[in-house]
Amino acid sequence: MKSNDILIRNVTIVNEGTRFIGCVLISGQLIKAVVEGEMQPASDCEVMDATGLLLLPGIIDCHVHFREPGVIHKADLSTESRAAVAGGVTSFFEMPNTQPQTVTLELLEQKMALAAEKSLANYSFFLGANNSNINEIINADPRTVCGVKVFFGASTGNMLVDKISTLEEIFKRSPIPVAAHCEDEAVVRANTEAMRLKYGDDIPIEMHPLIRNAAACYRSSELAVTLARKYNTRLHITHLSTAAELGLLDNTIPLAQKRITAEVCTHYLWFCDEDYARLGTKLKVNPAIKSAADRTALMQGLLGNKIDIIATDHAPHLAEEKRNTYFKAPSGTPLVQHSLPAMLQMVRQGKIELVTLVEKMCHAPAICYNIENRGFIRPGYFADLVLVNPEHKFTVSKENILYKCGWSVFEATTFDASVEKTFVNGHLAFNNGTINDSVKGLRLTFDRK
Ligand SMILES: [Zn+2]
Repeated sequence: MKSNDILIRNVTIVNEGTRFIGCVLISGQLIKAVVEGEMQPASDCEVMDATGLLLLPGIIDCHVHFREPGVIHKADLSTESRAAVAGGVTSFFEMPNTQPQTVTLELLEQKMALAAEKSLANYSFFLGANNSNINEIINADPRTVCGVKVFFGASTGNMLVDKISTLEEIFKRSPIPVAAHCEDEAVVRANTEAMRLKYGDDIPIEMHPLIRNAAACYRSSELAVTLARKYNTRLHITHLSTAAELGLLDNTIPLAQKRITAEVCTHYLWFCDEDYARLGTKLKVNPAIKSAADRTALMQGLLGNKIDIIATDHAPHLAEEKRNTYFKAPSGTPLVQHSLPAMLQMVRQGKIELVTLVEKMCHAPAICYNIENRGFIRPGYFADLVLVNPEHKFTVSKENILYKCGWSVFEATTFDASVEKTFVNGHLAFNNGTINDSVKGLRLTFDRK
């Protein structure tokens, strides 16, 4: 009988701060062995020669919007998880602003069941907080739910928690990490009104970073940090966009000991406010993309460990929905397929080391959220792996975009490196442009008390 083992040999393994040429043996869903140099395959083992390729742990994207249920004209769990594996992403955490909003544990379990049927990548879902569902949050199982998402500002939908007493309760009592979207509503509203006086309803998109400005971010992040310190909450601040907020974060203790962590998204490291003139509402995201100086500071904050992880905030909308005036164009842009290629390009440009990319996109998300047995290339861990060809250029175009919405801010951009193969739990889900969705991803579990 065939063993189904796969030996990847002659590959450059990038893992836990080092890189070396060696072999990885996959057996079933798991990694069985990792060795430097050669390894003799068993006679019935499939051997894959990966000379010249890089082997990374699968990317864990802790912040995506896949729109299912309820908003599936934009995206769904099947289409976006296919795009994810094509981009080397093997696990994702999805956000609660679907229809209905994921504000009860029952609705959360319904999403988990949908994903079990449809998702090619491993998954977890955030519970959403509102002004009245504290009991749902308290009853969430820390071992099977990634966290609770709190919108400090109403980014989309009405899942805004605006009562300070409710925020205090959540920060005091949540048994699961609190992931916070931080933008101060009052500041945003005042900025919006000032712009409306000047421009009417047709505000130029270039004003977006002045409406959703650094002050709005800082004021809200500061409140979140203050509450987290008060209640010793496990707080994760999502999508940092400003230099100023770095002052709220600590890099003097190891990630595993931090109670307050933060993420940056690929687009805040790649683009700056000057790109609004070129890309228009396609780049309308919340928080807005700030100045080139903010972008530089965010990269420094990441390298200096004030920022812990890189995520995407993948948030697809149809092109015709985006082709609209300032207020009518929804916020969010699709990214999950292009985050790794874009970050690899930044490696090429000397902005970040490859081992640091792996730390921030693979290891750190696993540590940050205590994901069980993933995020590292280690024997006994799930075989979530990405083979990257560092010398295979590709240009992003309508022909190779897998998002249901069919467009990307990276269209016409050429990346120097490509994802060649992606394994999810030992299953070759993506192979040189071909997707095999015969085996679905698994629900993520968390090593928490
Ligand atoms: Zn988001």
